[in-house]
Amino acid sequence: MPTRPGFLIGRIFGIPIYLHSSWVLAFVLISLSLEGQFAQQYPKWTPAWHWTIGLATSLLFFASVIFHELCHSIVALRYKIRVVSITLFIFGGLARIGRDPDKAIQEFNIAVAGPVSSYFLAALFYGLALLFPSNETLNALCNWLSGINFALATFNLLPGFPLDGGRIFRAIVWGWTKDFSRATRTAGAAGRLIAYGMILFGIWYAAFKGQWQSGLWFAFIGWFVLNAAQESVAQLAVRETLSGLRASDVMSHEIPTVQGSSSLEEYGGEVLRTGRRCHLVTNDDRFVGMMNTHTLNSVPKEEWNSTSVQAAMIPRDKILWAAPEEPLLRLHERLLASDINQMPVVSDGAAGSQIVGMISRDSILRVMQARAELGHATTGNGR
Ligand SMILES: [Zn+2]
Repeated sequence: MPTRPGFLIGRIFGIPIYLHSSWVLAFVLISLSLEGQFAQQYPKWTPAWHWTIGLATSLLFFASVIFHELCHSIVALRYKIRVVSITLFIFGGLARIGRDPDKAIQEFNIAVAGPVSSYFLAALFYGLALLFPSNETLNALCNWLSGINFALATFNLLPGFPLDGGRIFRAIVWGWTKDFSRATRTAGAAGRLIAYGMILFGIWYAAFKGQWQSGLWFAFIGWFVLNAAQESVAQLAVRETLSGLRASDVMSHEIPTVQGSSSLEEYGGEVLRTGRRCHLVTNDDRFVGMMNTHTLNSVPKEEWNSTSVQAAMIPRDKILWAAPEEPLLRLHERLLASDINQMPVVSDGAAGSQIVGMISRDSILRVMQARAELGHATTGNGR
């Protein structure tokens, strides 16, 4: 799964759409194969026309994939679930959804929207081809797009996580058993089974049918599904380990501070001396912002001597906060989603809001490791 989103091509309904670098390979391979196919089927066309229609069909195919992901996203947005991004990559599209849905029915509807949209496109392109039977170019383009969208929808309905069918399957098991963990494990296991099946089929197809390209491609997708299925079960383990814990359980009560007037050079020295990587910035005992090594490294080293901490810090109003009673799982997701390492924990008391601790990804990781070492016996005592 692509970890970096890639190149931003635009926004639809506020959702950023990215092209991952691996997408270029998919685009080139599909355009080449279409050009070859059209050259064979329509020898009377000029080579330039084979290319033009090949490229146009390829682009429309990726537009279809974006449409598929958008339909998942629109349903998610309806349930007030944030959609972080849509990314096109070598194996198609990926809508990154902010969190798991609260209810099985929501998961079902989000998942089913994708294949339904692809079947809709398949019917639409089929209808267009029927409407203009004498237009050879339009027929070539529409027939291929109709077939590929039909195949896309059908493939995605395979009942193994992380495919749409696997999510539908999970939603049904979840709704039936009311047990999200069990549903995820079942759908994950089905995903692994389907993935192994695809890999074996791909190898067999390549070795015994001589279809090297298609066979290897199939095995490759199987390998991707296998990884994603394992990742989803690993995410579940994180969820189970962190369940029942709150920010106040894990935060450190030590709150290192630094004067806003110190230079970055001095701050760097402090970090090296103490090993602490995040500080609250004060100005005459007034809390004004937060400073950390990440922010320090964003300033060129030559400027450290002439820049004050206050000039480089994250100002108070831009800092993300945690509440002591915030569930650790949600906090962990927030840290990952906003790509930050530490957050101050703020308590609202009679004396106004007060910083009571700091929480970091490291401290959450340590808890996960400790809990993993002690086994699951200790994880059942949620509060
Ligand atoms: Zn989908």
